[in-house]
Amino acid sequence: MSLDHLLDLPPAAARASLEAWLAARGERPFRSKQILKELYDGRRTDPQEMSSLPIPLRQALLEEALAPILTEDLVQCSTDGTRKYRYLLADGKAIEAVWIPTGDRGTLCVSSQVGCAAACTFCATGTLGLARNLRPAEILAQWLDVDRDVRMRELGAVTQIVFMGMGEPLHNWPHLERALTIMTDPDGFAFSPRRVTVSTVGIAPKIPELIERFPQVRLALSLHSAIPETRERIVPVTKRHSIEELREVLAGIRGDARRLSIEYVLLPDENDAPEEAVALARFARDLGAHVNLLPFHPFDGAPYRETSPESIQHFAEQVREHYSGAVTIRRSRGLDIDGACGQLALR
Ligand code: SF4
Repeated sequence: MSLDHLLDLPPAAARASLEAWLAARGERPFRSKQILKELYDGRRTDPQEMSSLPIPLRQALLEEALAPILTEDLVQCSTDGTRKYRYLLADGKAIEAVWIPTGDRGTLCVSSQVGCAAACTFCATGTLGLARNLRPAEILAQWLDVDRDVRMRELGAVTQIVFMGMGEPLHNWPHLERALTIMTDPDGFAFSPRRVTVSTVGIAPKIPELIERFPQVRLALSLHSAIPETRERIVPVTKRHSIEELREVLAGIRGDARRLSIEYVLLPDENDAPEEAVALARFARDLGAHVNLLPFHPFDGAPYRETSPESIQHFAEQVREHYSGAVTIRRSRGLDIDGACGQLALR
């Protein structure tokens, strides 16, 4: 009998599937517990490293249940400690994950799709279009590989996971839901959901499902403008989900989500006018959100020039004049290594 990849199955299904597979092979039942302990507690995805198992069983697992998911193709290291990984998937497609150390934290930005259909004008990934969704195993394997790599190098660990890499996570909801289940389930990897942030451009119908299913996961909204015409220009996919619809959905979950943050890439002459600051302040005030302003750094062929430190400071002050909540300017990391998402995969 064949066995699905164990990283594609929620823990209960993985256990049931594994037990049936072991029985068909004439293996003893306790092996199932042993294998899942190696996988989830030991975070070992390579059966060759599961030293508690006999070698023939390790080989069978490698061939049938825990085949390698991705290959590390390129790693770039920034002078600020940021590490950017390009992985090749079984079909030869490339994705990226970025690990950003800050103090005793290590934040990993993972991809949820190959390319992206959202087509944000400031994003290198957006120029690729969507190739395909990632499987749960392909999402999880980025985390497990980077965590292992930085631990092995004694650089730290992955302490936070943000879905801000390639892709719009809510466009791949079934696989995101599965990956988050395996990641956070106490019978799975038991990673704290409070340390996970899902970032979305605002796929309004899916947001309540995400919050209901994972109430402790943080939500980040990539807004980029609270004025409909500007937002539709910058994030074309949002034509289908108006700002009003988004405001209503987010107001409905206010108090459920642990914290809503608004991400706003400041694009010179596009979304940096005083009326944009006022609209952003009003939107954030309605939702009690934390505003994160991000400078834009151009990539080859980008339609905007770089955001100056003075202009982002000035914009932040304008927003603060109308909003007393948190408004922060996010420091750019890894600028010397193709900092923006999608740049490595483009090459
Ligand atoms: S910013 Fe995110 S949602 Fe927009 S195109 Fe890039 S990857 Fe997709």
